[in-house]
Amino acid sequence: MNETPPHKILCEWDRRYVWHPFTQMKQYEEIEPLIVERAEGAFLYDTKGNQYLDGVSSLWVNVHGHRRPEIDQAIREQLDRVAHSTLLGIAGVPSILLAKRLVDLAPPGLDHVFYSDNGATAVEVALKMAYQYWQQKSPPEPERNIFLSFTNAYHGDTIGSVSVGGIDLFHAVYRPLLFRVIHAPYPYCYRCPLNREYPSCEMACLGEVEKIISEHSAHLAGVIIEPLVQGAAGMITAPKGFLRIVRELCDKYRTLLIADEVATGFGKTGTMFACEQEKVSPDLLTLAKGLTGGYLPLAATLATEEIYRAFYADYREQKTFFHGHSYTGNALGCAAALASLDIFEREKTLDSLKGRIEYLADLLESIQSLPHVGDIRQCGIMVGIEMVRDKRTKEPYPWEEAIGVKVTREARRRGVVIRPLGNVMIFMPPLCINDEQLEYLVTVTKESIQSVCGD
Ligand SMILES: *Cc1c(COP(=O)(O)O)cnc(C)c1O
Repeated sequence: MNETPPHKILCEWDRRYVWHPFTQMKQYEEIEPLIVERAEGAFLYDTKGNQYLDGVSSLWVNVHGHRRPEIDQAIREQLDRVAHSTLLGIAGVPSILLAKRLVDLAPPGLDHVFYSDNGATAVEVALKMAYQYWQQKSPPEPERNIFLSFTNAYHGDTIGSVSVGGIDLFHAVYRPLLFRVIHAPYPYCYRCPLNREYPSCEMACLGEVEKIISEHSAHLAGVIIEPLVQGAAGMITAPKGFLRIVRELCDKYRTLLIADEVATGFGKTGTMFACEQEKVSPDLLTLAKGLTGGYLPLAATLATEEIYRAFYADYREQKTFFHGHSYTGNALGCAAALASLDIFEREKTLDSLKGRIEYLADLLESIQSLPHVGDIRQCGIMVGIEMVRDKRTKEPYPWEEAIGVKVTREARRRGVVIRPLGNVMIFMPPLCINDEQLEYLVTVTKESIQSVCGD
């Protein structure tokens, strides 16, 4: 193997050649880049030998830590057989085994697995399946051709998934390219769109959601939701029961529910899937990020028998789902995913996570009292800390102040990698994080907020 060039050269080439995602490159260049060279467990190590706690599990993907011997081994063994072969018309061993495992694990009724390679494509697949389902079921209902999504939703960055997205900062520029979508309010209780107070509101927003669904019910192909928590919106947690009632509304108005568990899947909310907590079975389920334990790009869209049947016909009826990616069902990715699921089973990861989630909640109380922390939201191991200029009036920091970026830089100086979403500091460590590391993560976040916002 070629020797890695020295840090200084890597910095120079990074600037010259790499265009980083979701990154203003001018701002990025203001400080020396952190260049990851290796990782172990919950820690990343850079080319200068510094150690950082991976507070966002490498953007919400890592599950059992970096370099888990079992996952490393599974990939190596698969590599000795085949790295990739297509699923278009032929099959592969790991993708078969994984599909069965996913169907066994997923909420009841989701019996078929369609693979792709990232969260956005898993969402595209779900949208296209839902759309085509209504045209092909018997009797067909082709007038059901629009989707409902929630305010501040995030479902990925391809044009279809941006269409159902609701974050103006990311999505507004593409409006003319997007298809029409109906929006309903998601319960952002700290800044309630209806100006009500939970729980005395009795989830009045659901009345609003029902009104919108019923108005459009004849044309709705489906409702897409991030169950329990909207991740990229700033970890906006929905009150208990919200998801359950959205499911009931979809039944009442006979439309499909698409649960996007790309972020929430694989233990991040404390259960394998968020839907389980409200005993909800969606019609379509999207999975990606944590699927391979954070190792390789792989995604899956799970569908019900009912949906599958609408595509199952004689070839000349042209009901085939004409969609597929070159790396669909990649063997290495499936092998990693199987190894990750084995770890969940063998180590009872979700059982031991319970105590850690409670401990995290205790730790977060010490941040709640900070004068510029307005709201702390936690769902499992997913946390959003919303910083405000004025705690009493909830006046936000103006976005120009880039307060989140400043806190992130402070945290990095203290050996923690976290990432902001606007004025919300996010963390979502790997499930393998221990109590001591959690404490470090919370302490550093607290100090960094204090250092930027003042005491
Ligand atoms: C990250 C995310 C996506 C997009 O996944 P990618 O793999 O980044 O394309 C979709 N939906 C949700 C809820 C996500 O958090």
